[in-house]
Amino acid sequence: MKDIYVTQSSLPPFEEYIKEIQDLWESKWLTNRGVKHQMLTRILQEKFQTEHVELLVNGHMALELSLQALHLRGEVITTPFTFVSTTHAIVRNGLTPVFCDINAADYTMDVSEIEKHITEKTCAIMPVHVYGNVCDVEKIDQIAKKYDLKVIYDAAHAFGEAYKGKSISAYGDVSCFSFHATKVFNTIEGGAVCFRDEQFGLELHYLDNFGIQDEETIVAVGANAKMNEFSAAMGLCNMRHLDEEIQKRKRIHERYSARLKNVRGIARRQIQQDVQSNYAYYSIIVDETIYGHTRDELFDFLVKNGIHSRKYFYPAINDLDVYRELYSPKETPVAYSISRRVLTLPMYADLSLEGVDKICDLIEELGRR
Ligand SMILES: *Cc1c(COP(=O)(O)O)cnc(C)c1O
Repeated sequence: MKDIYVTQSSLPPFEEYIKEIQDLWESKWLTNRGVKHQMLTRILQEKFQTEHVELLVNGHMALELSLQALHLRGEVITTPFTFVSTTHAIVRNGLTPVFCDINAADYTMDVSEIEKHITEKTCAIMPVHVYGNVCDVEKIDQIAKKYDLKVIYDAAHAFGEAYKGKSISAYGDVSCFSFHATKVFNTIEGGAVCFRDEQFGLELHYLDNFGIQDEETIVAVGANAKMNEFSAAMGLCNMRHLDEEIQKRKRIHERYSARLKNVRGIARRQIQQDVQSNYAYYSIIVDETIYGHTRDELFDFLVKNGIHSRKYFYPAINDLDVYRELYSPKETPVAYSISRRVLTLPMYADLSLEGVDKICDLIEELGRR
């Protein structure tokens, strides 16, 4: 069997993509919110059940420009159990991240810990729907209202998900999605912002195109973060296959769960109640005292056997060299502990069930030693 990597990008049939981009050779319109960009925007508006969608070059710029468009100052309460992009977006806006611990059940922000981090400088909460696990959106909404804070969700892992029957983008002031090649839905590189406030949407729209209102009017010091036509075309193609891909992921998720259920010392990712999941990631937690081996030992054993999992997310952000001078991972003990025991197993639509079985056989085998 060939080596198995943690993920593999989804691609439409080659001919389908070629057909989709053919008219670009006629129009010669390759970017600047062309026809593909507009079509994908419309499809996403339906998908997210909102008109308020802005399509961007990647998920990181979605986060960074959203924070800028909100004109925030001061401290942003966020999670250390995420991809660096979340924290970088805060810091690159001149804001100060304040790390709130996560809960051990689904690794999202521990809402019972949020209020103790609120000071007169707090301006926003930036939680992450990590692995596609939905944050306690209701409680976060309640806290935000009580203290008049903005809520910006990093929804990079949550594309296509719904909570209590509503699109995940319906919660908070802003939700930022990533369409990176490794995500459930990809546009090669890409991202989107869903929002409530029209004024915010307008500012974001200017900020991702140099602040240009019209040829002679520049209204903001903007960046350039527009999605190009080839990416949007990839999105149009991949969107046609999305439901089928999520179904395949579900099958893989279920196979992992069935196979790992009886392995002692391995805790499996659970799908939450009321959540329509996209099965973005399959993470496990290794309990060394029961399993008999550490997460790192399991990781190495899998690599030796051609399986490339990821220690995702490790180190926690407040344990990274670039942030360590200012923070200590000990301040968020749950995130610290989870980051040292978590392992994200290969998960992508075209992963075969035989592949899953091989991975589970190996996990069982090491556990018996
Ligand atoms: C992928 C990801 C991002 C960044 O998205 P890009 O499209 O790669 O810029 C941000 N946050 C999280 C949690 C991610 O997984």
